[in-house]
Amino acid sequence: MTGSTHQLASPEIAINAIPTDDRIWVPQAPNVFFRPLFLNTLTGQWCNLLKVTKSGVLSRHVHPAPVFGFVLKGSWRYLEHDWVAEKDSFVFEPPGEIHTLTVPDDCDEMITLFNISGCMVYLDEDNKQVGYEDVFTKIDMCRAHYEENGLGGDYVDQFIR
Ligand code: FE
Repeated sequence: MTGSTHQLASPEIAINAIPTDDRIWVPQAPNVFFRPLFLNTLTGQWCNLLKVTKSGVLSRHVHPAPVFGFVLKGSWRYLEHDWVAEKDSFVFEPPGEIHTLTVPDDCDEMITLFNISGCMVYLDEDNKQVGYEDVFTKIDMCRAHYEENGLGGDYVDQFIR
């Protein structure tokens, strides 16, 4: 077999996940950033690092599909549960559960890899929807941010399948 005979629909991605260029982190709320790793428009699934640089309540939300997480730095918890996700913790979040992400007082920065499918639905305290994110809103946020900071809007294309 000769090289380059495979025409794969989805070429691989192998990158340094923790960026050395801070412009790659996309702001999504005050003190909250994400770093795109994989944005699958075919299935609605995406992988990103979430970085939070202050303690306190981050978001109350629900997702209709399973979420998987792996903590690289710092810690966080859901107000609805007793456990704390710490560095090297693996987390499975079942679909349909409403929970409130919180970073403890003694943590000034957490970074977690999340693998998400479908969407994130943000809720207020009465469980009314106040916002949502999906792979397409993520792509739009990345493109706008990279356009603005000089990386170029098409910087996001390498993560899109
Ligand atoms: Fe969640």
